[in-house]
Amino acid sequence: MSEKINIAIIGGGIIGCWVALELSKRESDIFLFEKNPGITQGENQSSRNSGVNHAGLNYDSRTRPLKARFCMEGNRLWEEFCVTHSLPFLKVGKLMVALTDSEERELDLYYNRAIENGVPGVQRISGGQAREIEPNVKARSALLIPSSGIFEPTSLLRQVYFIAANQGVQFMTGTEVVRLNIEYNRPKMQIRYRDSSTDWIIPRKVINAAGVNAVDIAHMVDRDFPLKTALIRGDSMKFYRGGKQELYLRGTNVYPTPITVKTPFGPQHTVGVHLTPTFDCENGNFVIGDAVMVGPKLTPVNRVDDFQTPMPEPEVFVQHTKFFPGLKAADLSPNFSGVQARLDGYPDFYLARDRSCFDIIHLVGVDSPGFTSAPAIARYVAANLFM
Ligand SMILES: Cc1cc2nc3c(=O)[nH]c(=O)nc-3n(C[C@H](O)[C@H](O)[C@H](O)COP(=O)(O)OP(=O)(O)OC[C@H]3O[C@@H](n4cnc5c(N)ncnc54)[C@H](O)[C@@H]3O)c2cc1C
Repeated sequence: MSEKINIAIIGGGIIGCWVALELSKRESDIFLFEKNPGITQGENQSSRNSGVNHAGLNYDSRTRPLKARFCMEGNRLWEEFCVTHSLPFLKVGKLMVALTDSEERELDLYYNRAIENGVPGVQRISGGQAREIEPNVKARSALLIPSSGIFEPTSLLRQVYFIAANQGVQFMTGTEVVRLNIEYNRPKMQIRYRDSSTDWIIPRKVINAAGVNAVDIAHMVDRDFPLKTALIRGDSMKFYRGGKQELYLRGTNVYPTPITVKTPFGPQHTVGVHLTPTFDCENGNFVIGDAVMVGPKLTPVNRVDDFQTPMPEPEVFVQHTKFFPGLKAADLSPNFSGVQARLDGYPDFYLARDRSCFDIIHLVGVDSPGFTSAPAIARYVAANLFM
């Protein structure tokens, strides 16, 4: 049997859910297929990330135009959304700190890029001013980026899912898309349910938002799809800011200057191992919690489910956070690991219609700042790719 439907979305991470929310404002008969048993349950990136609402100054608009644009827009859209729905979100700001001459030159570069990308309110400040904001941070000078924030990703994902479901989207969890073909110029896909039985579906449109599997889905319909996945796991640790005086962090995101690391997949740009505050709830209000995340430290992996390769030792995290000198290896305990959907040799998001079937839209390489960018990506897909 094969069922005709209007829209099939593959993947129930933050991208699939936001696209579902956006499209369900004007379309009906939308089905979202998620292989995990539930939304926010499983090893997807949307449930395992640092929870930073990035400001958008890390991305050069010449080499990474989509990241530069959607990160900026998404940052603002998330703030509005979280305030409207009383979600765990705090605009804590960010310090990008420099300890050496060359890092100070990097700060100049990112300051100029912030202006170019239109990131509001960024200031170049001295080490003394940085210590007034975070007394335990060591810096020769820093950038202060007020629009950076933190959110609790699974709460936000759940809210987007609830709204999309209320607007009529059918969420088929525990259901994996196992084949995607093109027949008579139309997409046709096979799905496998929890009990291993299968069905064929004929959707009018397909949105491929399958995260680390999105390139594999693209290859099902285009053997020569031009991009390859570069799987990189990000590991993070945590410490408690109330434990010792030298570990106290008021609650700002603290980052080094970004670095490019060599990997078997070629050079990869990274924001570096950073400190990110977490949430607590006091009398119904969201406040800065005791735990502080340190990471992610990147490890290239070969499989999307490689959580077995050991994470780096705590000493490695300490070496990468010299801007917070009170932190010792013994203060750290494991936090989480998540595998990112990076692309080999392609630094931007890839959001495009399939080359031979315009009714299939691939959202590929949505690595960081993908969570921040999600609402803006969804608007773009609905307005520009979905016709
Ligand atoms: C360690 C780490 C830290 C990060 N930190 C940040 C941050 O601070 N800020 C930020 O903005 N971004 C951050 N990111 C990036 C962000 O998490 C991702 O860009 C974003 O979550 C991607 O969402 P997605 O929906 O594309 O992918 P995912 O969340 O991975 O969802 C894809 C879904 O597709 C499903 N799927 C795959 N194949 C199939 C199939 N065949 N059939 C059915 N379902 C399928 C998967 O089960 C999965 O649920 C971080 C990522 C990591 C890993």
